[in-house]
Amino acid sequence: MALVSSWGRLGHWEHEVLALTDREQAGGQISLRRPGLAYGLGRSYGDVCLNPGGWLWRTAALDRFISFDPNTGILVCEAGVLLRDIQRLFIPRSWMLPVTPGTLLVTVGGAIANDVHGKNHHVRGTFGEYVRRLTLVRTDGEIIECGPDLKADWFAATVGGLGLTGLILTAELQLHPTTGPWIDCETIPYYSLSDFFDLSSASEAGWEYTMSWFDCLRGDSGRGIFFRGNPAEAGTRPEPKTRERAVPLTPPCSLVNRLTLRLFNDLYFNVNKRRNRRGLVHYQPFFYPLDHLQEWNRIYGPRGFFQYQSVVPPEHSREAVQAMLGEISSSGEGSFLAVLKSFGDRPPAGMLSFPRAGVTLALDFPNRGEGTLKLFQRLDAIVAQAGGRLYPAKDARMPPALFRQGYPRLGEFSSYRDPGISSALARRLMES
Ligand SMILES: Cc1cc2nc3c(=O)[nH]c(=O)nc-3n(C[C@H](O)[C@H](O)[C@H](O)COP(=O)(O)OP(=O)(O)OC[C@H]3O[C@@H](n4cnc5c(N)ncnc54)[C@H](O)[C@@H]3O)c2cc1C
Repeated sequence: MALVSSWGRLGHWEHEVLALTDREQAGGQISLRRPGLAYGLGRSYGDVCLNPGGWLWRTAALDRFISFDPNTGILVCEAGVLLRDIQRLFIPRSWMLPVTPGTLLVTVGGAIANDVHGKNHHVRGTFGEYVRRLTLVRTDGEIIECGPDLKADWFAATVGGLGLTGLILTAELQLHPTTGPWIDCETIPYYSLSDFFDLSSASEAGWEYTMSWFDCLRGDSGRGIFFRGNPAEAGTRPEPKTRERAVPLTPPCSLVNRLTLRLFNDLYFNVNKRRNRRGLVHYQPFFYPLDHLQEWNRIYGPRGFFQYQSVVPPEHSREAVQAMLGEISSSGEGSFLAVLKSFGDRPPAGMLSFPRAGVTLALDFPNRGEGTLKLFQRLDAIVAQAGGRLYPAKDARMPPALFRQGYPRLGEFSSYRDPGISSALARRLMES
């Protein structure tokens, strides 16, 4: 038995752990060790990648590249390959992942199972839209090859399927042509929520990447920084040197409190306000600003932290986001990582994919117990009333009713579940 946590570090739970290393044998291994659950790098914040008391099948060593066609950009690889290794290997060869989350320390299997999104959802949608085929092995030994045009129902259940339909062994990915590692980026300070909506809609047509940081301590009258970017050609510019640092230990209490947040928000806003310009930025700090600080999740102390990420449909997004920011600023709880982004109107790749048209707001909160949970109940009510939903990859506490309301295809999804797979999230939200 080993103690395993997820990115939010809300606890450490006992699991039997099996490291998968050979894709030919993985099916036999998981059929003997169930109920189990695939575990990539545990970069999910809550309990979607945990299975306390049961097995975890670690996939990070299933990390082989199988084939690549430099003419078409089609890459076949094992599911434990890291997005970092794909970007590092293929960007110098003029191909890149079309969609990535805000960290590269994610496996291909984890990116498919949560159908992750990035800063370009309004243009390219989710990771799952670029999976052409995947191989799924079930705990009864059945192997299912599927894709958008082959057993499309299995594919739609597995993309965004939270690891519950089987173990993804391999995936065929369509990479996107790129001119290099540079982004032509514009940084724009703004002074109200209304400015965010104006900037967002003005940027949708001409900018591939958009996202915004918002100072949530100031409610909806607060300020923010809007980032937008496009791929750039930068000739033979030298790549910046990055120094990796790590938070060396877990402090006895959270370093994130009202005082440090206020200081951080002032500093972050003022530094970026001064930038207020256009320039070339390397893709790593642009897409993955936190990746050079390893184990930054420790700053929240031994009780860990929650991320609360919602999406609300366009017709209600202004009022709903305004109401959520109002609740947060009056609650005394605050988040230094408050990200606002508009999602485009694209058909979802998976039955349980999180993104939908509208505005998504992502916030990190130190775990202060009852007070934090009460704030979430108030935010839940706003999300439910607006017809929105929460992101399971980030969740550790949403009530089952909100999950059912937000994911109307849950009943259909249930028939594709593998009975030999379970997770803490599935037991909490699906009762099995
Ligand atoms: C700093 C940071 C920034 C982030 N930014 C974003 C973002 O911008 N957008 C976004 O969408 N997400 C974001 N995330 C969340 C992250 O991208 C997802 O949680 C991702 O799925 C984690 O991948 P993982 O490999 O660590 O998988 P894990 O967290 O270990 O597992 C995630 C799920 O995938 C399943 N799984 C993993 N491997 C397999 C497999 N081989 N077969 C079947 N199921 C499998 C697991 O069972 C689990 O259900 C961010 C996370 C961090 C820490």
